[in-house]
Amino acid sequence: MSLRLGGLKRVKVPRGEEYDIVVVGGGPAGLSAAIYTTRFLLSTLVVSKDVGGQLNLTNWIDDYPGMGGLEASKLVEAFRSHAEMFGAKIVTGVTVTGVEKLGDGRFRVTGSRGLDVTASAVILAVGSERRKLRVPGEDRLAGRGVSYCSVCDAPLFKGKDAVVVVGGGDAAFEGAVLLSGYVKKVYLVHRRRGFRAKPYLVEEARSRPNIEFVLDTVVKEIRGEDRVESVVVVNKVTGEERELKVDGIFIEIGNEPPREFFERVGVETDKDGYVKVDEFMRTSVEGIFAAGDCTTVWKGFRQVITAAAMGAVAAYSAYNYLTEKGLYKPKPLTQLKA
Ligand code: NAP
Repeated sequence: MSLRLGGLKRVKVPRGEEYDIVVVGGGPAGLSAAIYTTRFLLSTLVVSKDVGGQLNLTNWIDDYPGMGGLEASKLVEAFRSHAEMFGAKIVTGVTVTGVEKLGDGRFRVTGSRGLDVTASAVILAVGSERRKLRVPGEDRLAGRGVSYCSVCDAPLFKGKDAVVVVGGGDAAFEGAVLLSGYVKKVYLVHRRRGFRAKPYLVEEARSRPNIEFVLDTVVKEIRGEDRVESVVVVNKVTGEERELKVDGIFIEIGNEPPREFFERVGVETDKDGYVKVDEFMRTSVEGIFAAGDCTTVWKGFRQVITAAAMGAVAAYSAYNYLTEKGLYKPKPLTQLKA
């Protein structure tokens, strides 16, 4: 029994149920995997903290083939409803903490809110988490002027005098442009002079008179009593130190994979903590596949389409694995949905 609230289905957290596939993660990689596994007629559970993953941290997507330009939330909704249309069960608000291989080759997947299910194969599509600067004041003032999501928090700074945005990638530039419409002054602080951000975003930021580029510069400290009051930055070339009086700092310096979770699951990772996979998205543990931002594939080019492609390949490989191992028997036609 499920309730549909505000467009999102509230599904009870399953306990004691058996699935062909459990997909961990509800971003583009996980939902694409679920679209394909359900098309292969595998019973599929998607368990995730949220639906959308990194897509929730961006506003607008204009490079997903066939969609023209659209709001990121609309693309998330399209992925979700597509997976559900084919019969995937999606449970959100749950953090998966354990994926344990059982004696018979299946997996026990456990997590918060009592999640406890078994699966014949698992697809890890857990994405990555926002990277921290690890400077004094950052943790203490988190949520009190320190933010890791411009798209989510920019409106909270409406009418303020100034903010810092840190980073040189798409997220930093998208954030700086967005924030320049809410605050009087934006300092874009980046550790070198070259940018990873797409050229059109760089051009857009350059055209905004209230964005000041502070380059070759790193953040040394975030200061403030109860809220952010200033950010101390140091020029790496000249050694010059500046204290920028600001109301907030948006740290947009990329992502890190959940290294400890992978250690617990036992899949091999590279030195940065990303899950090692082969071209069929197979991990070092037989029966566990991985897809999307959490993997070693196409590092440096994290896009919705690359995540979706990996999800599709992981689903295909999981299907082949289950059929080759005799772990999946096609259902009689009478049990199939029309
Ligand atoms: P990113 O592309 O990895 O860029 C991270 C930036 O932060 C880089 O400029 C990096 O500097 C800098 N950085 C990393 N660690 C740092 C540290 N410890 N101190 C200071 N600076 C540091 O990350 P992102 O911008 O969050 O984007 C992540 C992915 O999402 C990308 O694939 C991006 O294309 C995608 N995305 C797309 C959009 C869009 O298309 N609208 C919007 C947001 C994100 P260096 O350059 O010197 O390494």
